[in-house]
Amino acid sequence: ALSMAVYRNKHRLVYDSSMDPSTTDQAVVTAFRTHSLKGMYAVFQPQIDIKTGQLIGAEALVRWQHPTLGALTPDEFVPLVEKLGYISQITKLMLNEAIRVSALLRKQNRPLVTSVNVSVHDLADPNFFETIKSAVEHFKGEFCDLKLELTETSFSSEIGHISDTLVRLNELGIKVSIDDFGTGYSSLAYLSAFPIQELKIDRAFVTGMVEHEKNCNIIRATLVLADHLKLKTVAEGVEDEKTLTLLDELGCSVAQGYFISKPLPEAEFLKFIDNYLA
Ligand code: C2E
Ligand code: MG
Ligand code: MG
Ligand code: MG
Repeated sequence: ALSMAVYRNKHRLVYDSSMDPSTTDQAVVTAFRTHSLKGMYAVFQPQIDIKTGQLIGAEALVRWQHPTLGALTPDEFVPLVEKLGYISQITKLMLNEAIRVSALLRKQNRPLVTSVNVSVHDLADPNFFETIKSAVEHFKGEFCDLKLELTETSFSSEIGHISDTLVRLNELGIKVSIDDFGTGYSSLAYLSAFPIQELKIDRAFVTGMVEHEKNCNIIRATLVLADHLKLKTVAEGVEDEKTLTLLDELGCSVAQGYFISKPLPEAEFLKFIDNYLA
């Protein structure tokens, strides 16, 4: 839980002295204020084509081995960082890591799409387009090797501007996915407002879909919707073979989850690819 003793008011950080900030909150604020993201890195979770078993992509997820607090999970710091208005620092780091790794794999003749989680805060930034373009050029990557997963934690009033940015990124060959579809703010409205190519079904529906008919039916309906809109579908949180088989029967195209692999640090991820392709 976030105590939120520090929050952002327009462009100013405000400290609410009536609340006692947790050690974690204080450490997060300090790190981002001073741009010292020491110990922050990307892990990669493989995605496979369910029909063919082919390895087709990976999601880049942030990890933080904090110098004094130890391992922090994204749920412990991402919401706070977003609230403070510093999320672009994480996004930049993750874009660089994802683009660097996919450029490396392409050089090895193993092209793979890497996905980066972005929020409305990122997309509302007028420099976002240029940030991506220069990162791809810097690592000599391919735009088609990059995907953006749009995760919503708050509603944005800048839908028009965001949609324009996404159109320009689409034109370069960058794909866009709606993450955690069906939960929070990742709603049907986004399907009509944004140029997207993929729906990512939230883990909340996937886990237990074998046992719970309701979850299964929600996924069934989501797949029909995606089919009508000609969108690819990815199921996250696939933890066992039964779930994978059921997703295949229902017509979901891509799977990601512990059954295939946990998110892996770069070196282990590259080893996973070696083994998978062997
Ligand atoms: P997400 O984007 O929906 O990512 C999927 C989460 O589910 C990841 O948690 C992943 O490790 C976890 N997961 C994957 N497969 C399984 C499974 O089979 N079983 C279970 N129980 N869990 C599974 P993680 O890495 O803790 O990330 C949590 C959330 O934090 C992400 O949800 C995303 O919303 C956010 N996040 C992570 N990295 C970033 C980032 O670089 N930028 C931003 N803005 N948000 C991020
Ligand atoms: Mg995601
Ligand atoms: Mg997700
Ligand atoms: Mg999720």
